[in-house]
Amino acid sequence: MSEFTKTLCPYCGVGCGLEVSPPAQQGKATHRDSQGNPIWRVRGDKAHPSSQGMVCVKGATIAESLDKNRLHYPMVRDSLDREFRRVSWDEVFDIITRRIQTVRFTQGPEAICMYGSGQFQTEDYYIAQKLMKGCLGSNNFDANSRLCMSSAVAGYIQSFGSDGPPCCYEDLELTDCAFLIGTNTAECHPIVFNRLEKYHRKNRKVKMIVVDPRRTPTAEAADLHLAIRPGTDIDLLNGIAHLLMRWDRIDTMFIDDCTSNFSAYAEVIRHYPPDVVARQCGISIEDLETAARYWGESQRVLSLWSMGVNQSSEGTAKVRTIINLHLMTGQIGKPGAGPFSLTGQPNAMGGREAGGLAHLLPGYRLVKNDQHRTEVEDFWGLKRGQISANPGLTAWDMITGLENGNVGLLWIAATNPAVSMPDLERTKKALLRSPFTIYQDAYYPTETTAYAHVLLPAAQWGEKTGVMTNSERMVTLCQAFRQPPREAKADWEIFAEVGRRLGFIKEFAFANSAEVYAELAQLTKSRPCDMTGISHEQLQTQGPTQWPHPQESRGSREAGGETSQKRLYTDLRFHTPDGRARFGAYYSRGLAEPPDPDYPFVLTNGRLYGHWHTQTRTGRIEKIRSMHPEPFIEIHPRDAAKLGISDNQIVEVRSRRGQAHFPAKVTKAIAPGTVFVPMHWGALWANDAEANALTHPESCPDSLQPELKACAVQLMPVSHKITVQNYQLQSSQW
Ligand code: SF4
Repeated sequence: MSEFTKTLCPYCGVGCGLEVSPPAQQGKATHRDSQGNPIWRVRGDKAHPSSQGMVCVKGATIAESLDKNRLHYPMVRDSLDREFRRVSWDEVFDIITRRIQTVRFTQGPEAICMYGSGQFQTEDYYIAQKLMKGCLGSNNFDANSRLCMSSAVAGYIQSFGSDGPPCCYEDLELTDCAFLIGTNTAECHPIVFNRLEKYHRKNRKVKMIVVDPRRTPTAEAADLHLAIRPGTDIDLLNGIAHLLMRWDRIDTMFIDDCTSNFSAYAEVIRHYPPDVVARQCGISIEDLETAARYWGESQRVLSLWSMGVNQSSEGTAKVRTIINLHLMTGQIGKPGAGPFSLTGQPNAMGGREAGGLAHLLPGYRLVKNDQHRTEVEDFWGLKRGQISANPGLTAWDMITGLENGNVGLLWIAATNPAVSMPDLERTKKALLRSPFTIYQDAYYPTETTAYAHVLLPAAQWGEKTGVMTNSERMVTLCQAFRQPPREAKADWEIFAEVGRRLGFIKEFAFANSAEVYAELAQLTKSRPCDMTGISHEQLQTQGPTQWPHPQESRGSREAGGETSQKRLYTDLRFHTPDGRARFGAYYSRGLAEPPDPDYPFVLTNGRLYGHWHTQTRTGRIEKIRSMHPEPFIEIHPRDAAKLGISDNQIVEVRSRRGQAHFPAKVTKAIAPGTVFVPMHWGALWANDAEANALTHPESCPDSLQPELKACAVQLMPVSHKITVQNYQLQSSQW
């Protein structure tokens, strides 16, 4: 038997396969982390179809985070100004269930909220949905994916009648033109970028266009970098469409046979001639024409996007406007082509399958759809009407719900909203008002710990067996390779035990996570994400597989046949009632908070190559800390000179909501008028360098995803120093 356990990297949505072996079996001196814990050995899984053995620095160093600063026992306190005290699981389950019943019968189930995470395995997500939306009758389950890719979900649903990225990673190596917009793929999805870049380098005829206000490492590799003004994406996309129309580079047969609403779209793009678009976007007409020419002359166009598009007050409109270009040129349902959203988190896709947003139900179903609710109620054995017809509170709604007293219980799991939510001072004040917050996480402390009444120790990656789905719909079994530390438990087991103690014994009678997955898979039968042919056993014996993968295909797969579908919509039929994809006709509205004389700069933010989100793991890994020792603000030399800011000088950044301080990085990589800060430094890791102290919560009306990517700020050089915490915690006693 192999000493290596196969699993998946738990960081980003690329979903790279890993193989892990225990420190004791290396036959060499055991490597230890800075706290003396033996380090497990990790390498890329060459057999994993998505990553083919490649990993980035995050995946390569993940094992170093396993034992640092773990939360080991359940803890409670009566109020936020008291110390926590250790309790047994039995005691804490009683406290939680009593509180749930009190809130349920005094304020109603809609006062109960759960805020989960794309770090969940699919089984965790599914049990949480069954507990919240089924048994308790509250649709108030939302996840941090709301802040990440809900605009992509809404865009796919509106254009195609269903969610689901239609492409696969093979398309990276089959395309003639890669159009990357709002994605710093090189740093945020490194292995996807490795595959694309290698192919691009070898095939000089293949074009790469990158649209980003920053000259990122991704943009460095492009044939054409369009550094558009923040908020002008729709202008650019409609401008490209205008030229394709003018040059007759459109696929009229595809438009006639496979789409609807083209005339409304054609009317809109009429208003985006090159001179207007170039002026609006701050690019040359020549560059705009080059982009349109690359697109129009390519047989196969693949577009890739992530948070730069999704985190916008017009996020859904942007996604649909990208899709429009594919529809007008017939660039979908074939190798090397299609609109491909890159998910941020390792299992945001699994969350979508399990119904893990406030408006979703398992199996790519919608809360608002009567038939979908009935199907789920019947499957779960619930009374008709048990699932509310109203979508629940989204991530930001939960914050405003705390402000106005409508939230009686908030259960946060595997995420760190005290760093990641917009308008952070307001968020923190709201969290302080929570009557009862349960915080379930693998680590102690995080910034959110300060706002919890109850802490529950969660097993994390490698300590529980479950399934994750990556951006290309590849489902991988993540096998446990070690025991959870002390009393930590898998998230789904915690939810299930609470369910049983609330009286839902048979609903949560699962012996293991394989049974949980088997139940969810049945609920996807005949849905776009049909996974009835997938099981833990099948994944273990045959390796990762893509959905849709219906049960009837299992036989041929076992006989060596190819059953999973690499691409969606190859038959050019979509999930809309008439089978046609819909054009969305949108004029650009621009930023929700454009710059003005008082706040003249646009602040944008993003990730760095080594760090992950709020540093809960990566901040505890020496190699990554030394790669990215401190936060910074990128500012163009012209702006810096005007304000008297020199390299490394501390800059005070103010928005209408808050302020933060960053050392200046004066660089031409950022366009004049725009500044960039990384989003990783919360209060634990630096003094006063929180990107979200500045951002605002204005959201896309369709996806309800906040516009985290842009807000208006003013800048001022100051003389004081920034303190970067050397946050070397002792081994947790908890
Ligand atoms: S690219 Fe993403 S999934 Fe792959 S190793 Fe890096 S962080 Fe992990």
